[in-house]
Amino acid sequence: MRNRPAVDANPDARAAIDAILDRFGSGALRVAASAGIRLVHLRGSEAYRDRSRALRRLASGVDDWPVPPAGLFVVEERTVYLRSTSPMTVAHEFAHALDCALGGGVYLSGVDPRVRRAFRAARAFITPYAASGLDEYFAESLRAWVEANDPRSPWPRATRARLRALDPAISNILESIFAYDLAA
Ligand SMILES: [Zn+2]
Repeated sequence: MRNRPAVDANPDARAAIDAILDRFGSGALRVAASAGIRLVHLRGSEAYRDRSRALRRLASGVDDWPVPPAGLFVVEERTVYLRSTSPMTVAHEFAHALDCALGGGVYLSGVDPRVRRAFRAARAFITPYAASGLDEYFAESLRAWVEANDPRSPWPRATRARLRALDPAISNILESIFAYDLAA
């Protein structure tokens, strides 16, 4: 049984990815690994469609966007695909993966009434992106919980202290998830 998710990347990218994964703690990494979560870093000129059968089949076209996304999580493959290994990207996409692992293959954030209530009642969000949907709300809040930030991001820093101040409800939910579901 693996203790952490498989990472398919060259040594440098792998070190950067592992350092961010460590911020989630050994309990979270074990839960992700047992749910079959893995991470793939695209090499050189590789496109998402080169590595993901699902994205190829869905002809999703993300590779043809003017700026393809820095990372993606594909639920049906339980795989995080990364073009960038920046802390923000790795933490945000792994947060989606963890959301999926916690929900047993569907996003916990989509089915847990506590998360829905917190989202509806929220008066402020940790980043603008967190307001765009339940899954992004959960992922950005989780990124704040583990405090993974890019130095050059235009967004306010996502930290646990800011999250607690802005949104105590989601903070309490994450605290309970780490204490019970993701206990080390
Ligand atoms: Zn996202």
